[in-house]
Amino acid sequence: MCGIVGYTGFEEAGNIIIEGLKRLEYRGYDSAGVAVNGNDGISMVKTRGKVEVLESKVRENGGLSGHSGIGHTRWATHGQPSDVNAHPHMSESGKFAVVHNGIIENYAELRSELSSKGITFLSETDTEVIVALLEYYYDGNIKKAFMKTVSRLQGSYALGILCADAPGSVFLAKNKSPLIIGIGAGDNYFASDITAFMSYTRNVIDLEDGEFAELKPDEIKVFDCLGRKIEKEERRITWDVSAAEKNGFEHFMLKEIYEQPNALKQTIEPRIKGGRVVLDDIELNLKDINRIVVTACGSAYHAGYAGKYIIEKLCRINTEVELASEIRYRDFVMDEHTLVIVISQSGETADTIAAMKECKGHGAKVFAICNVVGSTVAKLADYVLYTWAGPEIAVATTKGYTTQLAAMTLFAVWGASQLGMINEETEREQTDELLRLPAVAQRTLDLNTSVMELAAKYHEMKSLFFIGRNLDYCVALEGSLKLKEISYIHSEAYAAGELKHGTIALIEPGRLVIALCCYNRLFEKTMSNIEQVKARGANVLAVADVENKKVISEADEALLIPKVNEFFFPILEIIPLQLFAYYVAKENGCDIDKPKNLAKSVTVE
Ligand code: GLU
Repeated sequence: MCGIVGYTGFEEAGNIIIEGLKRLEYRGYDSAGVAVNGNDGISMVKTRGKVEVLESKVRENGGLSGHSGIGHTRWATHGQPSDVNAHPHMSESGKFAVVHNGIIENYAELRSELSSKGITFLSETDTEVIVALLEYYYDGNIKKAFMKTVSRLQGSYALGILCADAPGSVFLAKNKSPLIIGIGAGDNYFASDITAFMSYTRNVIDLEDGEFAELKPDEIKVFDCLGRKIEKEERRITWDVSAAEKNGFEHFMLKEIYEQPNALKQTIEPRIKGGRVVLDDIELNLKDINRIVVTACGSAYHAGYAGKYIIEKLCRINTEVELASEIRYRDFVMDEHTLVIVISQSGETADTIAAMKECKGHGAKVFAICNVVGSTVAKLADYVLYTWAGPEIAVATTKGYTTQLAAMTLFAVWGASQLGMINEETEREQTDELLRLPAVAQRTLDLNTSVMELAAKYHEMKSLFFIGRNLDYCVALEGSLKLKEISYIHSEAYAAGELKHGTIALIEPGRLVIALCCYNRLFEKTMSNIEQVKARGANVLAVADVENKKVISEADEALLIPKVNEFFFPILEIIPLQLFAYYVAKENGCDIDKPKNLAKSVTVE
């Protein structure tokens, strides 16, 4: 999720790796570590906290000596941020060391298999099984042990591995996590992000999923998944550091919008096994629950709002949604049969923390949806479902929000199954559809150019409306907030049926109304609302699914997204609205990643 870096050559590897880790700091992380392969085998230093702390620990230890090495900045997914859970991880005998970005989905099975063979584990991470497997399979042939190990891993990984028996070599493997090789002169590098080694070389080789590599100071060998050596093209990076940090995107927000397919995959895939939603470690019996209260702030509140509709529909449990800043001061009626779902990307949102404490005080059980392992929200909750979206840097959330929606959806399907509200066949259909979401989110991003043109046309507007019904209304709330946050343009989100009760007075010729029309059960109703605003001169931009072509003749402009299950479309529908907010803000020269007056994690009341 965060960063890895490695080196083999003639320099002291430890120094180059620590420099590389410093260049990865912009991404945010909770721990750091480094291991080098020297004359006395592999030595390692790791710590919770910043690279600065790592550097002084290395100094206290008298430095690290060795010409090949690996380093890591961790964004914990399995196990709290701590010294022991920090990477690298070493095998029992000290023969292998590994750094890993990503999630090993089948680590629990592998860990119990290896434990039954007498292997002991020091950390709580999913990663440690990798070194245990390497050592278990090793009979003197590293490549064989390496390939056998990787064949056992399910999930996402970018791996950097050292073996004490091969002092000049660094081994790499990649699946669904970024990994890139830097070609030096008499030395070679690797990293999850080119910023780590850009000051040394700009010539790179991209590893593809399923490929392995062995780096030596003067040789780079890449293998396919069957272990056959393959030739790879080199490419030269021409970006400056700032563009490289954003992977070539102009802003972190746009990068993160484009990271959504992958972030959704990280949230969804590990939770679906054999056509069922499996929430490991969550021993909650919904039969004991008669009421759900969702509480959060900002975008997380909007994810909660959508969750309410989906949970009520699928689980048939009375669900309310309430702002955390309000619930904390209300005399809320709740008891041990109330489940409170709190949602917070950072897990440090002050209002949400206060709300959850208040609810716990009333005896309610708390289920958290959160992106940061070891955060206050995660620690205080009775149950946690991590979104695993990876670090989010832009202040305005995008992938944080869509993965919260995905988590709410997973919860609803899991709950419906547990309560017997859906049968096996329906659960399978829904999980198949959930697994399809990352790919359709990718297709939805194809709307980028059309949205850019619309933003160029409308960026001077002073005020606009977002309207929708049911789940479309929840998306309207988030679309409006996104636009306000980064472009500072006034907008309001209205339940489409509510317009005629007052707000329609504000519709005048030329007013832009963004109509969200993906909830098919109420499509015709929303069409009538479109007619009402058009009759008063509004310009209507509609977002609908590709099968609802009628929208093209009704609205002035239409953006069509792929069709998915009727409860899952908010995850796609928000994407063109995020892009719209982004391009309007860009047209208007706004500071997109750091909008005025806003902070990423709101730790004050
Ligand atoms: N899943 C691993 C852990 O929690 C790696 C996380 C990362 O990519 O930083 O330790």
